Amino acid sequence: MAQCEGKTRKGERCKREAQSSSAFCSIHQDQEIRAPKGHETEWDTDAIMKTALGFALVGVILLFRFRR
Ligand SMILES: [Zn+2]
Repeated sequence: MAQCEGKTRKGERCKREAQSSSAFCSIHQDQEIRAPKGHETEWDTDAIMKTALGFALVGVILLFRFRR
């Protein structure tokens, strides 16, 4: 059986054995759902920030052009 991929409260790798249907043990099973979502959210926030900055820049340029 594979080692659990979960992390303990101390941030250390869990030493328990993973369940046959999962990469995590019964204690860290909830981390299987949270881990990828957290990573995705991080990426989305960065992308949204860049997109928002881009739109803000375009908005400012258009505003100054229409004023003239
Ligand atoms: Zn575990």
